[in-house]
Amino acid sequence: MATSMTETLSAAEPVDLLAKFDPIIQTREQLLAAGVEDPFNLVMEQVLSPTRAICNGRDTILLGTYNYMGMTFDPDVIAAGKQAMEDFGAGTTGSRVLNGTFRDHRDVEAALRDFYDMDHAMVFSTGYQANLGIISTLAGKGDYIILDIDSHASIYDGCAMGKAEVVPFKHNDVEALEKRLKRIPEGAGKLVVLEGVYSMMGDVAPLREMVRIAKEHGAMVLVDEAHSMGFIGEHGRGVAEAQGVIDDVDFIIGTFSKSVGTVGGFCVSNHPKFEVLRLVCRPYVFTAALPPSVMASSATSIRKLMHGGNKRAHLWENSRTLHKGLRDLGFKLGTDEPQSAIIAVIMPDLERGAMMWEALLKEGLYVNLARPPATPAGMTLLRCSLCAEHSAEQVQTILGMFERAGRAIGII
Ligand code: PMP
Repeated sequence: MATSMTETLSAAEPVDLLAKFDPIIQTREQLLAAGVEDPFNLVMEQVLSPTRAICNGRDTILLGTYNYMGMTFDPDVIAAGKQAMEDFGAGTTGSRVLNGTFRDHRDVEAALRDFYDMDHAMVFSTGYQANLGIISTLAGKGDYIILDIDSHASIYDGCAMGKAEVVPFKHNDVEALEKRLKRIPEGAGKLVVLEGVYSMMGDVAPLREMVRIAKEHGAMVLVDEAHSMGFIGEHGRGVAEAQGVIDDVDFIIGTFSKSVGTVGGFCVSNHPKFEVLRLVCRPYVFTAALPPSVMASSATSIRKLMHGGNKRAHLWENSRTLHKGLRDLGFKLGTDEPQSAIIAVIMPDLERGAMMWEALLKEGLYVNLARPPATPAGMTLLRCSLCAEHSAEQVQTILGMFERAGRAIGII
């Protein structure tokens, strides 16, 4: 009996479920065969500060992290995490709705309510899960999600999970949004999903017009402010605040993995029924709550970000200096003016993008090599994201590195 089972199993030709990824494997092998370092396999062997690390044995300036406000090494943020680890242990070992809500989960939600001046805050294990959970729970079968075509993967995945009808519109195009909204059946549930800052090109959404149009058409609005928290808007609440429409936004999604400097995701809202989401949102219920140390560090960081005025001003100064410097050197940039802490340098193709990335790494500079499907219009980008802790001298050093690498590779 056992013999015949084995025979049957070994006779069947297995269908390799990974075969569909062969083109990706080939592209990667071709790239590495050219002798470049693997841009997607970098190890930070030692992290010296928010702006410096040892990578591949080299002292490297970090210009490709989301550490916008440099909070990862803030002594208060670190001390709060250490203390919570001592007092509450290493992890929660449970869901928020069972044994996983500790003092600091409540405290970080209080810090978020204060930061955004909103009634409700719900913390998820990541920003990805916040989008996945909130979008899929709000908009289900028969509802419509109208979203910018360049939306983050977590937004698309949230749409797919909820099974709503997805209606994309051209990036940052107010008229296209309006046209799509007009075509949606009267009385249908509608959620317009926007981002404050789009992370590939670093451009800002025209939220003032878009939120108004969404409201005129009876849609609810969700804005992902992942890349604006802490430094855009008078209180650092993001682009919706800066453009004066935050009170008309129904749900703001954010993350702790960028300006806050830790890990986690959240949604804040003034909707009176918001708390029911804790019971029905599967990516909130069916996963373990974040460790108390992460929550305590995050709460401390969020409260410090409320008073980050000087750091914010310096971050903007860095962004302006780098943008102008790169443009003056002759690089093609994603935006005409600096709109955020992200500056995208457009590469002619993947090969030269990878060569430039490597040349910069050898100079001692780390940036993100971004390529499709993450990037719009099939572009290869060297994405630079600035930190409030980059000194003015470091920004000048960075410009020198870009100049040398750009000339060596023949891009400028
Ligand atoms: N939204 C946007 C716009 C993002 O860029 C990201 C991450 N890069 C996320 C959500 C997910 O955040 P997290 O890293 O916390 O999962």
